[in-house]
Amino acid sequence: MGKIILLDNALANMIAAGEVIERPSSVVKELVENSLDAQARRIDIRVYEGGRTKIIVTDDGEGMDRDDAVLALKRHATSKIKTEFDLFRIKTLGFRGEALPSITAVSQVELITATGCGAGTRIHAHEDHLEVEDAPGKRGTSMTVSELFYNTPARLKHLKNDYVENASTIEIVSRLALAHPDVAFSLSIDDREQLATTGLGKQLETIMRIYGHEAAKYMMPVAYACPDFSLSGYLGQPSIAKSNRYYIITLLNGRSVYMPKIQTSIIEAYRDFLPPVRFPFVILNFTIDPALVDVNVHPSKREIRFTKEEALKEALLQVIPAALREKPLMGTPIIKTPKDEKPLDLVLPDQVLSLLEEDEPQTKIDHEAPGTPVARKKIPQLRAIGQLHETYLVTADEEGGFVLIDQHAAAERINYERFQALALTDNYKTTPLVPLVITIKPSEEALFTPEKRMVLEQTGVILEPFGIHTYKVTEIPLWAREDDERSYVEQLLDQILHGRTTDPLAIRDEAIASKSCKRSLKANQSLTLAEMQRLIADLWKTSNPYACPHGRPTMIAFSKYDLEKMFNRTGF
Ligand code: ADP
Ligand code: MG
Repeated sequence: MGKIILLDNALANMIAAGEVIERPSSVVKELVENSLDAQARRIDIRVYEGGRTKIIVTDDGEGMDRDDAVLALKRHATSKIKTEFDLFRIKTLGFRGEALPSITAVSQVELITATGCGAGTRIHAHEDHLEVEDAPGKRGTSMTVSELFYNTPARLKHLKNDYVENASTIEIVSRLALAHPDVAFSLSIDDREQLATTGLGKQLETIMRIYGHEAAKYMMPVAYACPDFSLSGYLGQPSIAKSNRYYIITLLNGRSVYMPKIQTSIIEAYRDFLPPVRFPFVILNFTIDPALVDVNVHPSKREIRFTKEEALKEALLQVIPAALREKPLMGTPIIKTPKDEKPLDLVLPDQVLSLLEEDEPQTKIDHEAPGTPVARKKIPQLRAIGQLHETYLVTADEEGGFVLIDQHAAAERINYERFQALALTDNYKTTPLVPLVITIKPSEEALFTPEKRMVLEQTGVILEPFGIHTYKVTEIPLWAREDDERSYVEQLLDQILHGRTTDPLAIRDEAIASKSCKRSLKANQSLTLAEMQRLIADLWKTSNPYACPHGRPTMIAFSKYDLEKMFNRTGF
């Protein structure tokens, strides 16, 4: 008996904070959403030291009178819903009345607010204690959150370095700004401006402000409506496709939400327009009757449920391809057949070619277990006999056995070593074939530290600033040449910004391996006997002809003895 107590307010708020306020960017999100709900036209966000020391959000919205301001910091105090009926028709971004008390529980808060009628109010909140005084009467609200997580050391320790925390804040503000083109946003980090939108109400302009001119130039508008929902927004042309999914932005009723199934449908809708490893750059706004949407799935409201998801998926699969087909695309759609690939004829500087031309001594193959990958023993003289399924070379060795060679794996090994050798020389760098400008979104740009820039340079790519969030690629490695220089640079950058290793040699190696794979002869490509013989000769010149750079076998050997054994001819 008597084990159960009611938690005191401060403790209850701290527990709620655990769910709502995960990191500095969550504070920014909650405060900005409050400003938007207060009909602000201008929202100014300032963040210091990753948001650990200070976050200030100032708006010109409707403000609060003194009683409301005091109440706002209390738990479950909200002006946005009154009854259960309202809970199922949420039109505002907030409604749980949890954000301000949660923030107050884990930081020191100063709230300055005024409705424009009479004096304003300033409140200092610290550990459940409020100090209230008069303030200037200018309409709007300014929230200053200092020393975040000062009393929750575990949370504080869990935070990443400033670059990562800032990237998260920039991403959240970018999405809120995209969802509200009619509001002028400005975000500065340690007093440096990161983004600023005009609030003129045009989403394309907001896109331009956030992602730069180049991105905006290749965006196509799309719109569709049916009784249950409508969608609008911009579809990036295939030429500005990205190497990750982070540029698929879905906004629902003014909220940036994570809709995994919808994201998959968007990727699917682009399928005929993009090669498999590229992802679309899209910004889509969905407007759905709030009665059909359940935003109350998670305290952060990042994930939502809604009833017409299937219908929306269907619509996307029709509307997106139609829109992409309708307009003559500025970039060429990439629909490749294997025949379009030009294998084995890379432009290499003479110096490197000479490096590769030395013939290695040829030796003979030994007996192997039937059908096993050839181990690194002796090198046989192989004569090409034909091709199986336009995929495997059938070759005969001189001793009555035969060897099957996977033509793609073999070409991959050959290209890999060519590129590797190339990387050892000083003149492996070149300029892109066509001027190449890439966009890095602000949140990723924040991760692009001088050290990472250095790593990128060591892997052979040089970027120079070229306008807002855009960079001109001035140097690339020779092996990045040909049709997909852009994807090469973007993938490399993606790996440097998000990958686990920062060792430039490891990154370059990985890039070379993947580039060799893409540039290599594919399966289902027919070859003449002479081409096959050339492939075999090239393969023997590599340092390890038996495996592709990913470690898969290039060939499987059957010796004369294996054949005899399998046909029960041994002992004759
Ligand atoms: P919720 O947004 O879920 O209602 P919050 O704790 O975030 O809960 O905010 C509590 C209340 O404080 C809001 O309902 C609103 O009335 C008021 N409020 C918060 N921020 C602002 C602001 N920037 N301008 C005007 N009112 C605000
Ligand atoms: Mg709120």
